[in-house]
Amino acid sequence: RNTSVGLIGLGQMGHGMAKNLAEKSTGKVIVYDMNTAAVETITSKYPHVQVAKSAEEVAEKATTVLTMLPASAHVDAVYKGLESVVGKDHMLIDSSTIDAQVARDVATRMLDKQALAFDAPVSGGTVGAANGTLTFMVGAPSEEAFEKTRPVLSLMGKNVVYCGKNGTGQVAKLCNNMLLGISMMGVAETMLLGSKLGMDPLLLASILNNSTGRCWSSDSNNPHPGVIPNAPAGRGYQGGFSNKLMAKDLGLAMKAAHDAQAQPALGTMAAELYTHLSTTKDFESLDFSSIYKWLAENANS
Ligand code: NAD
Repeated sequence: RNTSVGLIGLGQMGHGMAKNLAEKSTGKVIVYDMNTAAVETITSKYPHVQVAKSAEEVAEKATTVLTMLPASAHVDAVYKGLESVVGKDHMLIDSSTIDAQVARDVATRMLDKQALAFDAPVSGGTVGAANGTLTFMVGAPSEEAFEKTRPVLSLMGKNVVYCGKNGTGQVAKLCNNMLLGISMMGVAETMLLGSKLGMDPLLLASILNNSTGRCWSSDSNNPHPGVIPNAPAGRGYQGGFSNKLMAKDLGLAMKAAHDAQAQPALGTMAAELYTHLSTTKDFESLDFSSIYKWLAENANS
């Protein structure tokens, strides 16, 4: 087995991951993206990185193949192509955030070809991808197989966590993001109510952050402008994690909840609100903390 590693999908996240592979991997690195401009941003800086002309060519040249694609349909399509190429020496790791059921299905198809397949979605955003500090949540055929992913994923992340059988990485990711959407709605409503009742927002935030209401949405990404100087709220909600991506992840959470015959009331509310924001003019690309701005403009709370 050689140590060559391939990466398919060089977008916002894949770019940073490719950069870390190019800088730290001791073996060959092969990349592919259907968008040639995305490929050039890597090869212009790292001439030793090889470029493939297709996803299949990546798997012909590399035994470890990572994918970082937008959504379920893209992963399904790319894996259909890979099916004709992969065999027992291959390890396929999909880090896209996709439907847990699709993750299980594509893994089964790869396991039928005797390849090892994993879902390994990430948290940490584009900053984590660029800095090589992502957290990988990994669903695997077995814990022993999971251990084989650790060396390559550690080149791009600081935490590599075994979640259980195939699909559980996606489950962990969508559960976290459902809670994140809910907690952001809660903090936004709270900050707005406190402000309307005459409380100084900075003082209110500092009390929350030293009290039982504290959470990441209150102490690291507070949606009230100016509470956290470097948070997106302080720069017109630019950058960060978009309403569009939050709506996508909440949609996946709702799909998984439906499959499990569960009906999370707050999750459903968050999914509806973020779906609305993701299709509201001027809001779709803003950080998901912009729900504060939307509430302030639209709600009577
Ligand atoms: P992106 O749209 O910026 O990048 C996706 C890339 O895949 C693009 O460059 C596109 O050209 C390429 N692509 C699409 N179809 C392809 C195909 N068939 N063959 C080859 N290349 C193809 O998306 P992103 O922001 O990098 O996100 C990737 C995944 O990571 C998504 O599932 C997203 O939900 C998840 N994620 C994103 C973030 C974030 O902050 N952006 C954080 C965590 C997880």
